[in-house]
Amino acid sequence: MSKTLFEKIIDGEIPGDIVFEDDQCVAFRDINPTAPMHILLVPRKPIPRLCDATDEDAPVLGHMLRVAPQIAESQGLGDAFRLVINNGEKAGQTVFHLHLHIIGGRSLSWPPG
Ligand code: 5GP
Repeated sequence: MSKTLFEKIIDGEIPGDIVFEDDQCVAFRDINPTAPMHILLVPRKPIPRLCDATDEDAPVLGHMLRVAPQIAESQGLGDAFRLVINNGEKAGQTVFHLHLHIIGGRSLSWPPG
């Protein structure tokens, strides 16, 4: 199977502005940020969509939720950030390698569009 765009960034085959990595996940700046701070946190395992995750993936999903606030803190967002997962094309997903958007650095309205 061919690599996803995000696997290529993880593997250093295409450039990515990486801000965090560990054995389970990698975070890099979004190429088209929707806020002053827009980071994508992705599991190293190429799970296409959140709905494709299995019980086996629960540890990495939990880990990502633990790591995301630490990344936000390290990027100066403090406790003011939003986490978003777009699941499926109709929900706005364009890259089919599960990713958590970490967004902040401006005031964020609700509901999102
Ligand atoms: P989605 O729409 O799937 O939830 O989010 C995909 C995100 O990936 C978008 O915010 C888009 O700007 C970002 N993106 C697309 N191509 C690249 C790329 O080549 N590098 C980086 N860093 N981000 C990308």
